[in-house]
Amino acid sequence: MGHRISLANSFKLLCWQDYTCEYCKTQFDYENLPTIDHKIPITAENSTNHISNLVASCSECNFKKGDQDYEEFKNSFKTNENKR
Ligand SMILES: [Zn+2]
Repeated sequence: MGHRISLANSFKLLCWQDYTCEYCKTQFDYENLPTIDHKIPITAENSTNHISNLVASCSECNFKKGDQDYEEFKNSFKTNENKR
């Protein structure tokens, strides 16, 4: 599989997202390491390793997201935020 994400790209994502999870906005640290998630799942034909298709997410969100649609999954967190 040629699906390797460069360290430089991972680093860019983390900077852009202020070292927080794209979905739940949890701050990354040594106990909560970031994972790189694909907006279009890697299993899809039109998926890519281009940085525009990548987000940094905590492992919990990455796991929960599974094959769900990126926008849908992200929106489910927005609804939670409104309840605060
Ligand atoms: Zn998260």
